[in-house]
Amino acid sequence: MVFHSLKEVQSELSSKSLSLKNVVSQYLQNIEARMNLNAFIEVWGDEALAQAELIQQKIDNGTAGKLAGMVIAIKDNICYKNHKVSASSKILEGFESLYSATVVERILAEDAIIIGRLNCDEFAMGSSNETSYYGAVKNPLNENCVPGGSSGGASAAVAADFCLAALGSDTGGSIRQPASFTGIVGMKPTYGAVSRYGLIAYASSFDQIGPMTKCVEDAEVLLQVIGGPDAYDSTTLLEALPAAAVRASKPKIAYLKEAVESEAVHPEIRDRINSILDKLKSEGYTVESISFPYLDYMVPAYYVLTTAEASSNLARFDGINYGYRSKDAKGIDETYRKSRTEGFGREVKRRILLGSFVLSSGYIDAYYGTGQRVRRVLQEKTKAIFDQYDFLLSPTCTDVAFEFGAKSKDPISMYMQDIFTVHANLTGNPAISIPCGKESTTGLPFGLQVTARHKEDSDLFAFSKSLEALVS
Ligand code: GLN
Repeated sequence: MVFHSLKEVQSELSSKSLSLKNVVSQYLQNIEARMNLNAFIEVWGDEALAQAELIQQKIDNGTAGKLAGMVIAIKDNICYKNHKVSASSKILEGFESLYSATVVERILAEDAIIIGRLNCDEFAMGSSNETSYYGAVKNPLNENCVPGGSSGGASAAVAADFCLAALGSDTGGSIRQPASFTGIVGMKPTYGAVSRYGLIAYASSFDQIGPMTKCVEDAEVLLQVIGGPDAYDSTTLLEALPAAAVRASKPKIAYLKEAVESEAVHPEIRDRINSILDKLKSEGYTVESISFPYLDYMVPAYYVLTTAEASSNLARFDGINYGYRSKDAKGIDETYRKSRTEGFGREVKRRILLGSFVLSSGYIDAYYGTGQRVRRVLQEKTKAIFDQYDFLLSPTCTDVAFEFGAKSKDPISMYMQDIFTVHANLTGNPAISIPCGKESTTGLPFGLQVTARHKEDSDLFAFSKSLEALVS
């Protein structure tokens, strides 16, 4: 029994050939059989089974919510009341959430079942899940390779059939890149479409929670449930996202010449994207190449700005209020220093240091100020593209999943993983990764990234559904 969509589960449930408890048990068995993947930090099996019984009753008497039948897991940076949450960091070891994230409240209200919390890079900083305090996650498609990051537990769990869907977070690509590496769908909504209340902050002006699923339709249903205004997050949009536009003609598509023709992109990925572009043209879409000579600025601007925000967001983890406290510290200063020194991992410390440096007096304008100005230019240039085109296509990543250790010694090569994904976070646009092919020698999957105008998430889904059919 392998389900590919919520619709499939719901039709089995309504035909009564299966109970919701059977569905949960099957996922628990799948998890048990491949514990070595290390996708979960904690599995809430008994709780999920108990929920299944309650929701089954609602299904039987016709009062179940939209997500009844969906077994979902959440990244370990999303708070769930009375459950542990750690952002995969030692500094939050043992910490229990006092409240639930808005997204958690909303999926529970629609009868989803949360089966556990998922491993990720520490504080969502990374592209391979190798920075987790709880150890790396294996890619279920090739256990010598990473599942992507930072939502690596999430991508592995969906790809290995440990749950139907997962909620991840995406600051610079952490939903889309792992989706690309494991052959699933991952979507980063428009900035502000989903409340960040209860998401452990990394870089607040970039972070968005989003769905990771097996098909575009499930991502859409999930976004409808988790999205919308929230009084607890003043950066949420004031109104719900509009429905997809009814179009008189086929949407106009642009692709970035610098991305699709780049030597840095694996030749098979380039060829596959080109063949998809040709197919779209033959189906009557306007598909045009555009030049966007700013790719080189994106990763540096992203890392200057996100480390600055992280250095401030992570100041709260001081050994006093949350989780870990150094045992042998004397006095308040030493408690701060030792708890942070012992509690944070290397990559997180690197970013706090970098972020503090770019914000320091004397350098703030040269680094942080410049980063902000570059962000503004990128936003304006991107808006100009969307004045003419409806969607922007590119590969999600330059390559397929890499082996453990291949990039962890060289932060710059790890940061370059994000070359195509950080764009949408810098500008706030919605973007999705859809599986579109497999590399011939390794058989590993790779994704196609589609970006849309601000707030046109529904249009993005509509177009992605036709793409999904076209590339399969
Ligand atoms: N890989 C990027 C980083 O390390 C993206 C992380 C994310 O989106 N959370 O910052």
